[in-house]
Amino acid sequence: MISFSSFSMREELMQAISDLGFETPTPIQQKVIPQLLSEPIDIIGLAQTGTGKTAAYGLPLLHHVDVSVKHVQCLVLSPTRELCMQIQEEMSKYGTHMRGLRITAVYGGVPITGQMREVRAHPQVIVATPGRLIDLLERKAISLEHVQYVVLDEADEMLNMGFREDIDLILKSTPAREHTWLFSATMSNEVRGIAKRFMKDWKEFAAGAANVTNENIDHQYFVTNHHNRFETLRRLLDFNPGIYGIIFTRTKQDAQEVSEKLMKMGYLVSPLHGDMDQKMRTKVMERFKSKALQCIVATDVAARGIDVNDITHVINYELPDDPEVYTHRSGRTARAGKSGICMSIVSPKQISNIRQIERLVKQKFHKSDIPDGAEVVRKRLFFYLEQIANAEPKADFAKLYRDSIHETFAEVDKDELIRKLIWLQLKDTIDAYQDTEDLNAGFEGKDRDRGGSRGNRFVRLFINLGEKDGLNAQKLLQFIIESTDIDANTIDRMTVRDMSSFFNVPGDAAEYIIEHLSNKKFKGRKVRLEEAEQRSFAGGGDSGGSSRGGYGGESRGGSRPKPQGPRFSGDVRSYGNKESAGGYKGKRKG
Ligand code: AMP
Repeated sequence: MISFSSFSMREELMQAISDLGFETPTPIQQKVIPQLLSEPIDIIGLAQTGTGKTAAYGLPLLHHVDVSVKHVQCLVLSPTRELCMQIQEEMSKYGTHMRGLRITAVYGGVPITGQMREVRAHPQVIVATPGRLIDLLERKAISLEHVQYVVLDEADEMLNMGFREDIDLILKSTPAREHTWLFSATMSNEVRGIAKRFMKDWKEFAAGAANVTNENIDHQYFVTNHHNRFETLRRLLDFNPGIYGIIFTRTKQDAQEVSEKLMKMGYLVSPLHGDMDQKMRTKVMERFKSKALQCIVATDVAARGIDVNDITHVINYELPDDPEVYTHRSGRTARAGKSGICMSIVSPKQISNIRQIERLVKQKFHKSDIPDGAEVVRKRLFFYLEQIANAEPKADFAKLYRDSIHETFAEVDKDELIRKLIWLQLKDTIDAYQDTEDLNAGFEGKDRDRGGSRGNRFVRLFINLGEKDGLNAQKLLQFIIESTDIDANTIDRMTVRDMSSFFNVPGDAAEYIIEHLSNKKFKGRKVRLEEAEQRSFAGGGDSGGSSRGGYGGESRGGSRPKPQGPRFSGDVRSYGNKESAGGYKGKRKG
């Protein structure tokens, strides 16, 4: 396997890579970096954000920079100010040991005077949005006369945003340009047009097939009627207590309204859309990055270029009109080798749109069950139990209050105490989910637990495999198909839990599937399958739990139907009460 040490890169950069803990170069880095270090020809890199493309061009760029020369040698163009700031931040990390290196970002939405001052301080690298750069050129505040390397990052996005003429003008203002490196998630005629006009004998490198979303993303959809959309969103949030995600809406107004409704209910969320000024948006991003917020509710434009690596879920509150946009949205999760989930809330009419997107991303989407009240409560219970198991109270804390704690609980039985603590933690969830209806389209008003959904149409099967076996819906589906040879479309409404899963099959296929799977082993464990009707949906210790990969058990998940009181242990931030959510709102408005 190629390692960073096999690249002949300047020592300061190797040091930074080691500081950052990068172990192996990503696929696009493996292809692009050796070429650009040894022979920096013109290239086109087909890669989305999250593939490590910034380092793919940033490291070679810095390798070639001469820090002793005080004029702009490298220019990186990016579509949005958010991306611009992120590129500068990322490249500054790579260049941290290069004495005398200056990387300056210039972008719109902030006063130009400060940036003019920074440009006068002789940076060797400029990262810019096209509009602001042209503004600086027109004011003669910047010279691109000595620029040797130009990178066009997210070229397709820049063209989509109407920057074609600006890009042309900027490239024409770089007479000393020797190399142009173009990066794009998609390859359109327009992107090729730029290459034809401004690049010579370029080579193309792809991080994977263009337009195809990451295989680490589990695409799920939930079918509900339009008027149940918000309630479904809420249930999905509650069912995923460790969620750290982006909820996409179609309009700014929806982003604002959905967010406000969730905030009022005590969820730690905030809107992010174009009607908010830059200062406010930066603040929201800071809060999101520091995990003071569990989700942001964003429009596509505002969320562009969000560079957060450990997003666990993307939720499409509404599907975008353009299937391409779906790939941009889902690409916010499962970055840098991690896995993630993209959930879409759709109405029955929109299932055809899902099929269209499936064809584009070349992946099967899983129709999943909107969990019922009992499932939500159980999931949150197991999440809490896991948090208790993983909690490491400070020694001082225990010492300080030991006597009074013992005194208070001297007479209380251990089981009773556990019951009380769990009740305190979950009572609001339990109350809120007492008489909830089935939100899955076609089941409204019915109580599935009492058998409302049973009939001749399908049989719900239980299988004793779940997330703890390293499975998600996609992997489980694959295992079932491979073991039984049945068609993937036979399986519907799959719910993968911690140690077990459920799915629907047509009544006449159930017996066949049970028979063929029951003898199988999965990773040495005997597979057990039975009709779910024989088990209580709400009972059994087989399910619940929350630990999906790396984020289960973290104490950030605080979403719940109603704000709750003080916690036994845990993160005040994520378990903030109504006041904390309201307080935040108050601050924003003030
Ligand atoms: P990008 O696609 O450039 O937006 O990069 C996505 C994230 O991956 C950034 O936060 C980088 O710091 C991180 N990253 C880039 N290269 C590597 C690598 N080789 N190993 C681990 N993380 C990386």
